[in-house]
Amino acid sequence: MGIGFTCKDVAERANALIDGELGFADRLKIRLHLAICKGCDHFIHQMRQTKALIRASAAMPAEEVPPAALDAILARVARPEEEPEPKPDG
Ligand SMILES: [Zn+2]
Repeated sequence: MGIGFTCKDVAERANALIDGELGFADRLKIRLHLAICKGCDHFIHQMRQTKALIRASAAMPAEEVPPAALDAILARVARPEEEPEPKPDG
């Protein structure tokens, strides 16, 4: 086993790297690999951008939904089509 990472090693750790979940040693090895491998450098760059976009678009809708609409949706989900209430004057 060599000292540096292979392209496969980098690809496997790309997610953790971008999420900041990688240890110092692994981060260093990836950096070294990116310095000599344009392909992985590009790959990480692309992935970072994609993740940033996903995060931005995922954060948006929750704030856009009006609280009243959210309540209505939650009420419907919590009580799906229960038995109809008996009419008092049936
Ligand atoms: Zn590579």
